[in-house]
Amino acid sequence: SDLAPHEGRDPVVRVENLEKGFRRRDGSTVPAIDGVSFDVGPGDFLVLLGPSGCGKTTLLRSIAGLETPDTGAISFDGRPQFAGDRQINVAPEKRGVSMVFQSYALWPHMTAFSNVAYPLESRRSGKRNKTEIATRVRETLALVGIGELEQQYVAQMSGGQQQRVALARALVSNDSLVLFDEPLSNVDAKVREQLRIELLALQRDLGFAAIFVTHDQDEAMQLGTRIAVLQEGRLAQLASPLEVYTRPANRYVAQFVGTMNESLGTVTAIKGETAEVDTGIGTLTGRLNGDSIAVGDRVAAMWRPESGTMTNTDPVAANRLRGTLKASMFVGAYTEQVVDVAGQDLRVQVPGPNVLDTGADVWVEVPEVDLLVMPVEDT
Ligand code: ATP
Repeated sequence: SDLAPHEGRDPVVRVENLEKGFRRRDGSTVPAIDGVSFDVGPGDFLVLLGPSGCGKTTLLRSIAGLETPDTGAISFDGRPQFAGDRQINVAPEKRGVSMVFQSYALWPHMTAFSNVAYPLESRRSGKRNKTEIATRVRETLALVGIGELEQQYVAQMSGGQQQRVALARALVSNDSLVLFDEPLSNVDAKVREQLRIELLALQRDLGFAAIFVTHDQDEAMQLGTRIAVLQEGRLAQLASPLEVYTRPANRYVAQFVGTMNESLGTVTAIKGETAEVDTGIGTLTGRLNGDSIAVGDRVAAMWRPESGTMTNTDPVAANRLRGTLKASMFVGAYTEQVVDVAGQDLRVQVPGPNVLDTGADVWVEVPEVDLLVMPVEDT
């Protein structure tokens, strides 16, 4: 189970058997969240990852209290916020969480200062005086690197600056939980990269727990202490970035996180943890990645472009595939080679620039330990 005690303390967030359906026009129901359970511990950075429509936003909004689930339970530090069977549903502003939105959701004709001061001025609990508020707002604006923009109107700022204001507004109340709904997708690539680094540093320094929605797997890998991969409203996998990348729970996760070469085939032999697969491009041997795979089963043989090597001499090891170099793309740190093997394009990342001509006969080799044999039925 994903529910684990955190050294006797209650988790910052506990989600249990949450379900939420939306009615379609034709009267049928879309299960946007379909039985999801997990914990978020102090200082965790949990990323909710998945393609459009998998239920990420609905899950995040349910935690914030902006969406009412059908059944299940949500608690913060052991205090129930939503309980389907007990009619508990705490209002969003009383949950003590902050949220950062993709659209920033700022007041454009107010200054950075006024936008950030708002949560402190509007909160009934822990009312502070004007001087205290001003000090805290200035501290927070400085923290996110825009101290000098305090009196500037939001409408006159760049997207990156606006997102810093939105971040400051979320951090100003010092909540132990901050929710992020694709906050970086409207800023350009360089600024996005910079904001990710700063966000991680801030989260570690301030110690809040974060739940961050994205459909960008690079962003998920960079930010998450754990990644929850959602598949049609269910948790396909919840694990560390390393585990999700190297031991994907199923073929859906393997295909969604990073790049995979994939050849479908039939298992012809099993020896311990290793299976031999007869595919359309040859016999491939790899690690079993999935329960109860048997001889005769339909499987996918999957491996990542960085695991393969490419040579123009016949290698001696297993998993040798003969093909033609179709395209060669130098991208700086490596060259992405596309090799046509019996009509299938395989991708291999080779360090440094290319030395072989397009059209050359080549061999691709994949170590057995880097090739995953996965069931195909569960996708
Ligand atoms: P995106 O990245 O596109 O926002 P998502 O993973 O966040 O996608 P959700 O927005 O949570 O997914 O949607 C999950 C499912 O619920 C989808 O099938 C969506 O069409 C449906 N849905 C979401 N909100 C509503 C709504 N208010 N009314 C009806 N259906 C909805």
